[in-house]
Amino acid sequence: MRIGHGFDAHAFAAGDHVVLGGVRIPHDHGLAAHSDGDVIIHALCDALLGALAEGDIGRHFPDSDPRWAGADSRAFLREVIARVHARELAPGNVDLTVIAQAPRLEPHLARMREHLAADMQVAVSQVNVKATTTEGLGWTGRGEGIAAHAVVLLLAR
Ligand code: MG
Repeated sequence: MRIGHGFDAHAFAAGDHVVLGGVRIPHDHGLAAHSDGDVIIHALCDALLGALAEGDIGRHFPDSDPRWAGADSRAFLREVIARVHARELAPGNVDLTVIAQAPRLEPHLARMREHLAADMQVAVSQVNVKATTTEGLGWTGRGEGIAAHAVVLLLAR
């Protein structure tokens, strides 16, 4: 067994939607990022790479590389899972927490789980996505951006 943890945050910027867990969600702002700014997938990739002791997402997909401009973060996740499989491991379960005062995420959590499970080639029952606010406290509470935490357990295949 190997365990990993990931964290990511992105600030709001001009835009009309955010992408979280591979789901496009209409909003009065977008997220500032080199890629699509999917904080949930970025935290998840960091947790998976952390469990492998293979660094972080910035090392594998540097934001200085024009190849990743506007990239669909689901492609990052699929590449990271290939690295997990190459080590004869697979996700046992993943637990994700996204922290956002807005938009309201609860209606989208089921689809996020489906996307993430598909990209990781696991059952939906192995993926949990929780959304919380900070009750108005701090930078997420002031609506300045969105953060996400991820914990994963990898098991031998
Ligand atoms: Mg990121």
